[in-house]
Amino acid sequence: DGDNNSADAKRGVSGLVTSPDSSEKLPKHVPYLIIGGGTAAFSAFRSIKSNDAKAKVLIVSNEYHKPYMRPPLSKELWYTPNTNEKTNKDYRFKQWAGSERSLFFEPDEFFVDPEKLEESVNGGIAVAQGFSVQKVDAQNHTVTLNDGYKITYDECLIATGCAPKNLPMFRDAAPSVREKVMVYRTPDDFDRLLRYAAEKRSITIVGNGFIGSELACSLAHYSKENDGGKIYQVFQESGNMSKVLPNYLSRWTMAKMKNQGVCVIPNASIKSATRDEESLKLELNNGMTLLSDIVVVCVGCSPNTNLASPSKLEVDRTLGGFVVNAELEARRNLYVAGDASCFYDPLLGRRRVEHHDHSVVSGKLAGENMTGAKKPYVHQSMFWSDLGPEIGYEGIGLADSSLPTVGIFALPSATDARSSTDNLTVNREEDDGSKHTIIVDEKSNSDVVTWDDDAHGEQPDYGRGVIFYLKNEKIVGVLMWNLFSRVGLARTIINQNKKYDDLNEVAKLFEIHS
Ligand code: FAD
Ligand code: NAD
Repeated sequence: DGDNNSADAKRGVSGLVTSPDSSEKLPKHVPYLIIGGGTAAFSAFRSIKSNDAKAKVLIVSNEYHKPYMRPPLSKELWYTPNTNEKTNKDYRFKQWAGSERSLFFEPDEFFVDPEKLEESVNGGIAVAQGFSVQKVDAQNHTVTLNDGYKITYDECLIATGCAPKNLPMFRDAAPSVREKVMVYRTPDDFDRLLRYAAEKRSITIVGNGFIGSELACSLAHYSKENDGGKIYQVFQESGNMSKVLPNYLSRWTMAKMKNQGVCVIPNASIKSATRDEESLKLELNNGMTLLSDIVVVCVGCSPNTNLASPSKLEVDRTLGGFVVNAELEARRNLYVAGDASCFYDPLLGRRRVEHHDHSVVSGKLAGENMTGAKKPYVHQSMFWSDLGPEIGYEGIGLADSSLPTVGIFALPSATDARSSTDNLTVNREEDDGSKHTIIVDEKSNSDVVTWDDDAHGEQPDYGRGVIFYLKNEKIVGVLMWNLFSRVGLARTIINQNKKYDDLNEVAKLFEIHS
């Protein structure tokens, strides 16, 4: 039960108590009730408010923070000089574009006191902090909190998000080991890890996915700037981000991460962890031993659906998450948005998406529908990631490396385009059976003409390009590699849902050289 764990941890770390101090002080009835206080929840509030100006919205959140966004926790916050939990209470950070902002969507003053929501003439949003919803009775429009307190609603949204997974070997370990192991999802997790980084401790990250790879880069940067400790990244796969990036690009990315100072250990897992005075002794299955002060487990997350069974709501057996209809409704007047929602994508089939844009747009649509719009969710959401200064990418649709891909790359040294027939094309079949075509648009003045198509051979510089993910020969996903402001184009191409004879021609639309 990761969601409750995180709430308890915060009470322990920060000594925080619920706000208000007792559930008895919460309204007995609200027109709009939102379960969970994250991105989807806040987005839903905004859209409810713009459709119903005097709406009274109550968020019940088991966190002890007002709604905030998560992406900077693994990226920009680590690049903010002199970041420190005492001096930076609002978690202010510099966006890549240069402007500064806080992690919180709105300052404290924006919110109505939950005890005053009922009498508030102009409505507004109140957050009951540190309370968990245990059950929803959709027929009687009632939610029950963990302490048994009941609130009735007219419209309700479940936006409970995900909780990070742990590995059984750490979950079942002795307390002396467990206290040196953490997962990563909240500002409190950031504070904790920052303390380790600031004390120049050695940090081991487990997992090659979004959080593991982004954090490894950010921590290596922080460590370099502050003359800090060693940053290890251990994972079973052969390269970074392998669920998304085709194998050749995953390995290339890993080499870049090594250059940035991450001590990447691929094809490895932790066999045993024992406490050795202040640090943990980690024995890997490849014979290596690491001494580390903290282990950050980044092995994916699972949707918070604990309230499904008592509420008699369906959870998708394969994908997890609450099953909803096209209008994001699980039952009448009960909606689900964000990471916890398992929705039907008319183009790509049933899906569950764990990214920021999806939580914003699905939250917005749920909010509209809660005010009576009855619109279907048809948005093809995007995601982005940054891995240090040389790698940034945006993706849309099914960016799944087990699908066949065609990647078209521009060499950074090139200046003038040659015709597509002059491109260098390599077809690879990986050990997992996935098939990937790499096309390097060399341009005339490039000094790379061929490369060894061997797993360990020299590879060209995949500086910038576009990767198409194919299903039944149609483009179902697009990844724009160091190419920005082209998501709209990629969305249009996916929505066209057709077979293209020449993907080089499609790639030209992305203007990978400019
Ligand atoms: P959450 O943001 O998880 O909010 C759910 C809330 O509900 C939580 O506060 C939870 O504690 C609460 N809750 C759960 N159960 C209950 C209950 N029973 N009662 C009351 N409250 C409950 N995506 C990107 O696209 N780009 C990025 O760069 C990116 N970076 C990320 C970096 C990090 C470190 C993390 C962790 C995620 C990142 N993501 C990114 C993913 C993105 O943040 C999530 O997809 C998004 O937060 C999901 O929003 P949500 O509202 O569905 O869930
Ligand atoms: P992830 O799904 O991106 O990566 C999970 C990784 O865990 C796998 O790639 C694998 O290396 C590892 N793993 C899984 N099971 C394992 C096991 N039994 N033993 C060892 N390793 C195992 O998940 P994450 O990186 O933990 O991120 C959590 C969530 O946050 C995801 O939903 C992700 O989409 C989201 N997120 C998104 C972004 C972004 O969009 N830029 C950034 C950060 C986080």
